[in-house]
Amino acid sequence: MGVMRTVAAYAAPSATEPLVRTTIERREPGPKDVLIEIAYAGICHSDIHTVRGEWGAQQYPLTVGHEIVGVVAEVGSEVTRHRVGDRVGVGCMVNSCRECANCLAGVEQYCLKGNTGTYASVDRDGTITQGGYSTHIVVDEDFVLRVPESLPYESVAPLLCAGITTYSPLAHWKAGPGTRVAVVGLGGLGHMAVKIAHAMGAEVTVLSQTLAKRDDGLRLGADHYFATGDPATFETLANSFDLIVNTVSAELDLEAYLRLLALDGTMVNVGAPPEALPIQVFTLFANRRSFAGSTIGGIRETQEMLDFCAEHGIVPDIELIAAADINEAYERVLRSDVRYRFVIDIATLA
Ligand SMILES: [Zn+2]
Ligand SMILES: [Zn+2]
Repeated sequence: MGVMRTVAAYAAPSATEPLVRTTIERREPGPKDVLIEIAYAGICHSDIHTVRGEWGAQQYPLTVGHEIVGVVAEVGSEVTRHRVGDRVGVGCMVNSCRECANCLAGVEQYCLKGNTGTYASVDRDGTITQGGYSTHIVVDEDFVLRVPESLPYESVAPLLCAGITTYSPLAHWKAGPGTRVAVVGLGGLGHMAVKIAHAMGAEVTVLSQTLAKRDDGLRLGADHYFATGDPATFETLANSFDLIVNTVSAELDLEAYLRLLALDGTMVNVGAPPEALPIQVFTLFANRRSFAGSTIGGIRETQEMLDFCAEHGIVPDIELIAAADINEAYERVLRSDVRYRFVIDIATLA
């Protein structure tokens, strides 16, 4: 292991303790590396699942955070894509094998050898990657995104996970003028799906448990808003969507949602319930329906998403917090008490 430098961070000491201010080690930038001084980091539900060991055992202390924006502070001798002073971002991946069919196709999120996650992954030097709740991060230039300066700096970070996670399926299944898109759940992911699908020109319907956030949903760009707690919703909307983006990780009555798909319609899950989902293939026969999954997006598509959001003036609705408030924010995320994403002001950590 080469030279390291010590930087301030917030880390979980174990799966059951609150996060605490501490220091972590970052490698010195290699020839292809960029050192980023982090300005803001979003809080993603995945951060909480991971630090609490709910998605498998972890090594502690662990620093999470994969919605990162900041400024390039140093570049390695062979870096060509970024310059000192550039505003940049890092999302859910910091590397991949770069050789498999999927990496060569530019969809590194589906790397057949597994991409290197921004945190809690084994890095190329054998260390465990540490995420963005930290003052600095060192990342290979190929996994660093350009963040357009026209986007408000403090709001832009959640695009790097919540933004690309919803943009990718909307782009892949060609949401646009004349398509009818339903977004299930109006949380961090759902509110981005509504904004992006609306900007793409689709007719957007929110399907939420109750009508409590209806005014918000319409303000964000939805054309229609229905409560899934009302059984009549599933009769009214039968056979009426080309694409359903399900952002909810909790179990739901999959059959009831699949029956909302029109001819050749697709339901795509970006949230993952812990249990297996039962599907009646006969429900897929009707209307030649598809059920699919999608996770984040490749580097090229993530850049495309950032540029699209800049062009359309789209950023997440956020609540800016100090680093000392991370643990409280976690509790509020778990109660769905956030509209719609927490962003940590990393200056409060330095
Ligand atoms: Zn995330
Ligand atoms: Zn690969």
